[in-house]
Amino acid sequence: MDTNIRAKTQGILETAVWNIEQAAKRLDLDSEVLAMIAEPKEVIEIWLDPRLPDGKRAHIKAFISRHNDTLGPAKGGIRMTDSVSRDEIVGLSMEMTWKSALVGVPFGGGKAGIRCDPASLAPVAKEAVIRSFTNGVRRHIGPEVYVPAPDMGTNEQDMGHVRDCVSYATGTAITRGCFVTGKPVILGGIVGRREATGKGVVYAIEAACERLGMNFSHQRVAIQGFGNVGGVAAVELARRHAKIVAVADITGGTCNPDGLDIPTLANHVRTADGVRGFPGGKAISNEQLLQTDCDILIPAATGSVITGENAGKIQAKLIAEGANAPTTPKADEILNSRGIFVIPDILCNAGGVFVSYLEYTQETQREQTPIEEVERRLAGRLKETFSRVHHLASAKNEPMRHAAMDIAVARVVEGIIARGTLP
Ligand code: NAD
Repeated sequence: MDTNIRAKTQGILETAVWNIEQAAKRLDLDSEVLAMIAEPKEVIEIWLDPRLPDGKRAHIKAFISRHNDTLGPAKGGIRMTDSVSRDEIVGLSMEMTWKSALVGVPFGGGKAGIRCDPASLAPVAKEAVIRSFTNGVRRHIGPEVYVPAPDMGTNEQDMGHVRDCVSYATGTAITRGCFVTGKPVILGGIVGRREATGKGVVYAIEAACERLGMNFSHQRVAIQGFGNVGGVAAVELARRHAKIVAVADITGGTCNPDGLDIPTLANHVRTADGVRGFPGGKAISNEQLLQTDCDILIPAATGSVITGENAGKIQAKLIAEGANAPTTPKADEILNSRGIFVIPDILCNAGGVFVSYLEYTQETQREQTPIEEVERRLAGRLKETFSRVHHLASAKNEPMRHAAMDIAVARVVEGIIARGTLP
């Protein structure tokens, strides 16, 4: 079992390690510093044994990786899938370190994983699993240690259970400290957090289109994933008159060269539990979606989907990485050699962590930040970060991913030196 899971998901760790090794070479990093950032600071593995509402006891593996806390507490979502592995969580926690540093929020990198298929759980059973996880890792979660958020397979409601569990276990008020972000607004969450990542992806695409001379509203877009990131991005793009020609999720895909009707598709996904069977388009596979005839491709589901095998067949001119680590190193080389413009994950999907930071800071006052301010600050930070990365990439004639990694790694190294932890 474990060997298969490793084979399926180890790509994300390999990609993360490759990214840091390449940045270390470009920045000529000291080997002692590289040793401090090439591996996670702490990894926790735990078995959960919750009693589910059907009376049966489940046996579920979970992980937390705190990669780096030089610039602040580890930050990153809780992923719940039936295949999540230690390597995947370690790799994703590394990407979080660079993302937080790049977008300029005082967080380090963390990630958690619960190996369990959320679609197989009724809401009460999922709550039992989330509570069991929170109780089990209680001492590893906190405003100064690791602050979780939603990721694939988890949502706002699950973060509400995490927060309640902490209050219940410690006998303290729900208002005491930011233990988790992306929680319901009524419990101290921030308005606009759910949409932040998807909207951030759209702001990054807008900025790229401006630089590339592409008329935003004429673009044909294909999106893999129709959840928090892909679904929100689709709605936002459609609202701005881009044409969404293909969408896929774990159940299958649909395409329509004349444009999919996104509100109708969203309704279908809600009622049919997935994209499959959507009557407004022709059925396609996930692999066909990636290679579909379009201008912009948004991978917004799982990792390592753009590979050495399919990168040569991608037709998009622009790839916006909504997902974490969707592109393998081999694929990256091919995309670069083909002149395809890639907005790297640590820039493209950084809207979520940025608005999580706004939630973290609003927690001390408990005064709700107005949505207009959240959106203004999100758009401003994403566009400003995009400009900085693009400026460096253009000056050095290198891919956006290299420039983004170099800025982020240099910031963390500056923090390490400023803290004086070097001998
Ligand atoms: P989600 O659970 O809300 O949605 C995931 C979507 O991907 C669903 O439509 C699902 O059906 C689809 N999917 C899952 N596995 C798939 C597969 N093997 N093939 C095709 N489709 C598949 O998750 P999300 O929050 O939208 O996260 C999507 C991606 O974005 C992940 O890589 C996540 O790490 C990244 N991300 C999320 C956030 C956030 O704030 N939620 C922030 C940054 C990055």
